Amino acid sequence: MAADTAGPKPIEARDSAAQERRNQSGPARRSAIAERAGQMPRSCRATYLKATRGKASPRVAIKAFCMACVCWTRQEVRLCSDLACPLWMYRPFQGGAPARGSADL
Ligand code: SF4
Repeated sequence: MAADTAGPKPIEARDSAAQERRNQSGPARRSAIAERAGQMPRSCRATYLKATRGKASPRVAIKAFCMACVCWTRQEVRLCSDLACPLWMYRPFQGGAPARGSADL
């Protein structure tokens, strides 16, 4: 009897896919990071890449995440209105001098 190809994937295949997703330095992750880095302003890349390599402090990683969340606009992070976001209290650019240009880390 032929194998049914329409059913769920075998456990081994699912485990392999899950393992690939979890592989922190695998080609799928490197490719996804490179693609995203190419979509952001140059001024944001170094911080983003540092965070994705696990070389940034949690504070810097939050900064990179917030900047990505609002399409790389510093002022938007500062004025973020998503009060329910778990990072809201930790977001950067809350005080001090007014934000300079956009897309600036
Ligand atoms: S605090 Fe605001 S900018 Fe930062 S991740 Fe949350 S919603 Fe996005």
